[in-house]
Amino acid sequence: MRGAGRFAPTPTGRLHLGNVRTALLAWLWARASGIPNILRVEDLDPAAVPAGALEGIYTDLDWLGLVYDEEPRKGGPAGPYQQSARFDLYTAPLERLNAMGLLYPCGCSRKEVAQAGLAPHAGDEGPIYPGTCRPAAPAPLDSLSPIVLPNGRRAALRLNVPAALERLGTGPLVGFDDAVCGRVEMDAVALGDFVVRRTDSLAAYQLACAWDDVEMGCTQVLRGLDLLTSAVRQVLLLRLLSRPLPQYAHVGLVLTPTGDKLSKRDDAIAVEALRRGGEAPERILARLAGISALPETGDLARLTSAFAVAPAWRESVRLSP
Ligand SMILES: [Zn+2]
Repeated sequence: MRGAGRFAPTPTGRLHLGNVRTALLAWLWARASGIPNILRVEDLDPAAVPAGALEGIYTDLDWLGLVYDEEPRKGGPAGPYQQSARFDLYTAPLERLNAMGLLYPCGCSRKEVAQAGLAPHAGDEGPIYPGTCRPAAPAPLDSLSPIVLPNGRRAALRLNVPAALERLGTGPLVGFDDAVCGRVEMDAVALGDFVVRRTDSLAAYQLACAWDDVEMGCTQVLRGLDLLTSAVRQVLLLRLLSRPLPQYAHVGLVLTPTGDKLSKRDDAIAVEALRRGGEAPERILARLAGISALPETGDLARLTSAFAVAPAWRESVRLSP
């Protein structure tokens, strides 16, 4: 398998310094490893992409000098590089999971899951699904055509996690070695049965992301620590699908100089606003490198030669004022 690194933004808004720090570290890691950098656009929900958002991300990355070897505008051997153009490719893994009897329809609304959910703030997918619709005896569905339930609701498909673990014969703990965090292990049952195909019959985030990483040959996945529970779900999917795991690296959040979470509404951290305010791209890269145990320079060649994955990236870090 070839190697590649990737940055995979969801174009719901402009890039802020937290996004750019992740993009920068992922870009440097691939460059330092001598493998291509991929820009993958995660627009599984095209209706949620505001007009101009994708162009805005291109503008910001171009201005910063983060050039990608493979991306939607250039194409490449693992394209297309926009998930909205890849929907057909997710059928094969869904059929494979279904053949194992691991999928079941669920028509529970978000509100119902929230009310019956096991924890109010567990994980990145909202409340944990309590397994309301999980069948007592797992079996393949006759077909993967869209499912309308007797009450008229369209059903999502969820992964039966307990049955999946039984199939793997590994017990409830799902783990992997993270380049930043070290050994990560979580109880996958406690994370709940997650959606792999949405009610609109399109692939859900966990499946699309994990599958694209292997199909695109991504061997490095560096992203925010907020996606650690997603990583556990994605590892479970890749094990079921007999695919190799990429080397994951989850990095802590970037906070404001006063220690608050970055907000998309905050102009002080939006790349677009900083550009309009006259800040130089090299200065932005230098600031982000400086808080990441790298030399405080915007020279990408120098940063590449000085690059090393640092365990300290696990911690949240404040921007310098
Ligand atoms: Zn349900």
